[in-house]
Amino acid sequence: MTILRRTFALVACLSTGTVLAASLQTASSARTVDERCIGRGPIPAAALAHGSGALGCSLVGRVVTAGRVSVVVPPAGVTVAGDGIGRHGEVTGLRVANIGSDVRAVLGSATGSQGAGAASDPPACHDRTFHLEGHRWATSLRYRVALSNAPRRFHHRILTRQIKAADVNMRSGRNTCGKPHLRTPVGHYLGHTSARPNIKPGTSGIKCGAYNTHNVVGFGRLPGGLLGWTCYWYLNRTGHMGAADIMLDTGKALTTKLPSPCTNQWDFEGIVTHEFGHAYGMGHTGSGHSHLTMQHAATPCSTYARTLGIGDWLGMKKMYGAK
Ligand SMILES: [Zn+2]
Repeated sequence: MTILRRTFALVACLSTGTVLAASLQTASSARTVDERCIGRGPIPAAALAHGSGALGCSLVGRVVTAGRVSVVVPPAGVTVAGDGIGRHGEVTGLRVANIGSDVRAVLGSATGSQGAGAASDPPACHDRTFHLEGHRWATSLRYRVALSNAPRRFHHRILTRQIKAADVNMRSGRNTCGKPHLRTPVGHYLGHTSARPNIKPGTSGIKCGAYNTHNVVGFGRLPGGLLGWTCYWYLNRTGHMGAADIMLDTGKALTTKLPSPCTNQWDFEGIVTHEFGHAYGMGHTGSGHSHLTMQHAATPCSTYARTLGIGDWLGMKKMYGAK
């Protein structure tokens, strides 16, 4: 696998060089390579809204930024996306597709505002809303758990148990609506790892790193009220997922056991269930669906997200089928 990856990286470098060389030979252009390639620093996503095709340079490995979210441009044929769940749902997701001759950025919808616990929202077993991102696993999602950054207040055994349960909640379609289990490819828990999720949180933003095929669930200090974040990569040609990483916030807001009385605490297993939803291909529902696991803003002091609402279940069923 390592050799394959190195070969792949080398191919990517070579093609970059070829494109640059070809560009430099274009005497008609007086602009420098840096100008054509949007400078050397992070590239605003807006600059790629209509694609990079006219630039004549490879952007593989460059960072594309939109607000507080950034991603490293993946190799040709791969799309990367980052999405998460917050206390208030204020962070907008970002998707960058490298289709070979062109790199294109798409911003997620800015849902903003509150979403948690509106009394008028339909109950979980009546709310049929779901949104699919258009890609899924063809084989199993094999993941490891990284506990090196986990907050000390948590027992490693309980964290591991809840992460594994969260995966099962999502892929089996666990619900209280009387619906059968789903046929989602089995998620294989491969044990603990010292590798970190390929997600780089900063004080003001969060970044999906360069593409690799290790799937890691781990911890980090997420910015701006985020409770969880998922970066995933899929292959453009087939729509099949290639990799997914999940990072859970190390702040005080997540808990493995809700206290009583409870204020401003969020259920760890429920949040991880939501993130596994992204890893399996689910998108956000938008506001007004606070009883569904895949709403972008999470309701505090409830374990509701551990079980799928009918919309969550229907979305997963559409991708993977039911038993
Ligand atoms: Zn989310």
